Amino acid sequence: MTHVFHRNPQHTLKRAVRGQGISLFDEDGRAYLDASGGAAVSCLGHGHPEVIAAIKAQLDQVAYAHSSFFTTQACEDLADFLAQRAPEGLEHVYFVSGGSEAVEAALKLARQYFVEKGEPERSQFIARRQSYHGNTLGALAIGGNAWRRQQFLPLLVPAHHVSPCYAYRDQRADESEEAYAQRLADELDAMIQSVGPGRVAAFVAETVVGATAGAVAPVRTYLQRIREVCDRHGVLLILDEVMSGMGRTGHLFACAEDGVAPDILTIAKGLGAGYQPIGAMLASHHIYSTIAQGSGFFQHGHTYMGHATACAAALAVQQIIERDHLLDNVLARGEQLRARLHEIFDEHPNVGDIRGRGLFVGVEFVQDRGTKAVLDPALKTHAKLKKQAMENGLMMYPMGGTIDGVHGDHVLLAPPFICTAADIDDIVARLQRTVLQVLPA
Ligand code: PLP
Repeated sequence: MTHVFHRNPQHTLKRAVRGQGISLFDEDGRAYLDASGGAAVSCLGHGHPEVIAAIKAQLDQVAYAHSSFFTTQACEDLADFLAQRAPEGLEHVYFVSGGSEAVEAALKLARQYFVEKGEPERSQFIARRQSYHGNTLGALAIGGNAWRRQQFLPLLVPAHHVSPCYAYRDQRADESEEAYAQRLADELDAMIQSVGPGRVAAFVAETVVGATAGAVAPVRTYLQRIREVCDRHGVLLILDEVMSGMGRTGHLFACAEDGVAPDILTIAKGLGAGYQPIGAMLASHHIYSTIAQGSGFFQHGHTYMGHATACAAALAVQQIIERDHLLDNVLARGEQLRARLHEIFDEHPNVGDIRGRGLFVGVEFVQDRGTKAVLDPALKTHAKLKKQAMENGLMMYPMGGTIDGVHGDHVLLAPPFICTAADIDDIVARLQRTVLQVLPA
């Protein structure tokens, strides 16, 4: 009997006892290739000696100092590092302990900004169907995954949802990428008009959709068109890069590839690479100074914000990624991974789409690749794939409800940035075996 309140009490979990490089080891000594970095977290792999040393050094100085009494060098240095590399205008970094906290901070900052600016009627948020922004009530309220929201609906503040940018399913055969992007921007424009342009605080979107839809990147001009719509209506753009940011796509900030800078941006996961729990919200200088010169107080906060040890770990992680040019590896290995997946799956009747950017890769499974008809959700193909993969010593991140929270199956691959060409081949070989066991071609 365990006294731990596990997320899924009906499942017995193996104990992880060791992590080394891109592998985790269980209590029986079995190795698992961590091809998803847990949930796109462990971007430096496991047991990195320099990150461990940085954590120990910080513990020897000061583990924690409450943010209402002190700042710390680690917190200041990490903020400098991020602000110097962030998209244009994002100059201020607010450190929290994870992705949901970062999103909550973003929502409250957007609201307080408009109150201080003299536009208190702006209280509404628009987000996208099938998005995931976290499990706390504010983040869940704006999230668009029907299944995750369903039983908590009575607790959620109302939010408005528009279509995701999901070219595989929604771009029309006779429609160019530009026309598709424009259609989605027009839909956002219409939603802002119907809510009331002076009532909308922000539009929130994942730069690349992660857990709920499986590495769905926007078409090239989508975010630019969205930025224009937001600007036209004085609506803030909040980009959630909790999963897609910090190098996962091959760019430290995923939106850099789209040539767009948001007003507020959230990061977590790869920021601390799992060595410490840490997330952050980056805000534009304009928003920051509106509050600094207004009330002078952002009415938010948590006990562990700006945690010195977490900041020291994240700074070490980010410095190593930059020093070792690991984002070049992310781009090269990502190309290799997608190319190998195409080689082995392009003829498989149940593989509908292979997609993603950098080492953020999704494979969508279907009943029929010609019609894109989905597999029966009752088959729980995603759960079978996960179980079989673990038996094959492979960790990947499968999910059901890809399309609407109920229909669709995909797996998400997010291997550590340190993986080699041989590691990618090993991951693909194990994935191929797993898929053929669950879905024989
Ligand atoms: N936002 C996105 C895009 C995410 O993928 C996640 C987690 O998967 C979150 C927010 C929530 O982050 P956390 O689980 O650290 O609270």
